[in-house]
Amino acid sequence: MTELERHTYDVVVIGAGGAGLRAAIEAREQGKRTAIVCKSLFGKAHTVMAEGGCAAAMGNANSNDNWKTHYVDTMRGGKFLNNWRMAELHAQEAPDRVWELETYGALFDRTPDGKISQRNFGGHTYPRLAHVGDRTGLELIRTLQQKIVSLQQEDFEATGDYEANLKVYAECTVTELLKDGDAISGAFGYWRESGRFILFDAPAVILATGGVGKSFKVTSNSWEYTGDGHALAMRAGATLINMEFIQFHPTGMVWPPSVKGILVTESVRGDGGVLKNSEGKRFMFDYVPDVFRAQYAETEEEADRWYKDADNNRRPPELLPRDEVARAINSEVKAGRGTPHGGVFLDVSSRLPAEEITRRLPSMYHQFKELADVDITAEPMEVGPTCHYVMGGVEVEPDTAQSSVKGLYAAGEVAGGMHGSNRLGGNSLSDLLVFGRRAGAGAAMYVESLGENRPQIAEADIDAAAAEALAPFELEGGENPYTIHQELQQSMNDLVGIIRKADEIEQALARLVEFRGRIAKMTVEGHRQFNPGWHLALDLRNMLTVSECVAKAALLREESRGGHTRDDFPGMNADWRKLLLVCSLEGDGDGVTVVKKDQIPMREDLLELFERSELAKYLTEEELPV
Ligand code: FAD
Repeated sequence: MTELERHTYDVVVIGAGGAGLRAAIEAREQGKRTAIVCKSLFGKAHTVMAEGGCAAAMGNANSNDNWKTHYVDTMRGGKFLNNWRMAELHAQEAPDRVWELETYGALFDRTPDGKISQRNFGGHTYPRLAHVGDRTGLELIRTLQQKIVSLQQEDFEATGDYEANLKVYAECTVTELLKDGDAISGAFGYWRESGRFILFDAPAVILATGGVGKSFKVTSNSWEYTGDGHALAMRAGATLINMEFIQFHPTGMVWPPSVKGILVTESVRGDGGVLKNSEGKRFMFDYVPDVFRAQYAETEEEADRWYKDADNNRRPPELLPRDEVARAINSEVKAGRGTPHGGVFLDVSSRLPAEEITRRLPSMYHQFKELADVDITAEPMEVGPTCHYVMGGVEVEPDTAQSSVKGLYAAGEVAGGMHGSNRLGGNSLSDLLVFGRRAGAGAAMYVESLGENRPQIAEADIDAAAAEALAPFELEGGENPYTIHQELQQSMNDLVGIIRKADEIEQALARLVEFRGRIAKMTVEGHRQFNPGWHLALDLRNMLTVSECVAKAALLREESRGGHTRDDFPGMNADWRKLLLVCSLEGDGDGVTVVKKDQIPMREDLLELFERSELAKYLTEEELPV
């Protein structure tokens, strides 16, 4: 029998970023005993790193804005592959979620007349991102944590125990989900510091584990993004969708090498920054695709006027959706018009006064000064694409966030569908709040429906989870996980990166098979007390599964759309838009299967929000309204 500590909850939320915290608040407010488990320190999630802001059609900076325009922008940005019901709920509910944050204590930047300020971002028709300088994620997390503390204080008054109904287990990694028949029964994990095992008995688990960026070499993501939630869901029998769509953010730092990939927020362009090649040309005007031509300026003069008068001018092409800008930068560098360190120039210094730059973009100023010794108020930055976000994730039911497994929910970056083939900047923070809340409510409702009939955990399943976690200690003389991780990252970057081809993806798949063999034989040194090699060994299994999903789906989708660019299939294909690629684990749990599934056609009243001429760019002839 495995030695472990054991806790019983109604709902276990895995992840303490924006999605996890909002989900936990909801579940607790609906009367459910809730645990939050996170593998990093409490407060240190990706959400904290979010800079630019949270998209919500509040209409504060331009009163023409409304949820319908936000919906249209989101579908357009995702190239119509989005789950339209998720995009609808998101656009409708985001403003309420932002206002609600104010009731929790958030302090957003203000407009001159005292409303929540909203800034421009790529693909958004109107200034729409509620923000706090360029540190919005920090405020979001601070506020949600504050709300959690206030709920714990209420519980203390009622029960004498702060943690009676809502408790945080930080630096605790979940390695397996447990099931009773076809329903979730709990989660198994270990304390990172001691290596001791921990078990949560719970009929509902909400995955809020974020993304997968650590499978790629150049990424804006931190060590936590190893695709754990994606892989946990698959091992529990759930499905993933849209895994071929990886967002390469156009502007990561390219120099010095130690900081390559760190994000340069899109706010720099939203606030007036422009992209130039080594010849000093504002090259984005050459890269406006036909589907966006009507909405983007054709001259520098018109683009510059837009910053002051957005109603009477078209947007600068620097603010095209991220996939378009990333591909354009890639082409400029490949054509030999890049900067000395292989990027392009992002210049805000010649566009705004120094004081305004340091006021609006304080983090960027410090980031470049401290990490690259570049003063962005006086000289341009060098930037290039970096793996940033995964659009793919757990396939969920839009209204409740439930996966295909009973009792398993997913919200935030780990969930798929909402962003289609490409996410608009700012739409993640709002996604976390909207679907975090919905997942918390969905899980609470499910637990309520169970009454006394809760799924049970079998002792044999606990022993199996423990054996799987300890497997890397059992072998001697194998490779260490660090070498395999580096090679995996390099392969994904080079062969399934921003521009893809069938023969390269096939090479990647062959390498992944080889990695699977090597991972089965890897060894870790030492013992279970804080042992980063062991932690990486466990994370590597997840990264491998996720990488297989990305590569297999990328090979199957023979078109280019959003965050999936095939050199050998350069155009968008309307027949492919009707198809989702669904990943699951094969019978023995050892390899990924990808199958095609039909998209549910968009509801008629939502179709009517678009001009027929625009729909014709995305839909097949038969799908077009008469
Ligand atoms: P996270 O906030 O990453 O939280 C994941 C949590 O899961 C963490 O607590 C982690 O410890 C935990 N976890 C993971 N695996 C396990 C496990 N096995 N066991 C236990 N716990 C686990 N989006 C915007 O909308 N606007 C922006 O301005 C913006 N700027 C960004 C800037 C940067 C630098 C980056 C990297 C991203 C940015 N994004 C932005 C994207 C956005 O921040 C993320 O998509 C979002 O924060 C993800 O939130 P989440 O709650 O899904 O996951």
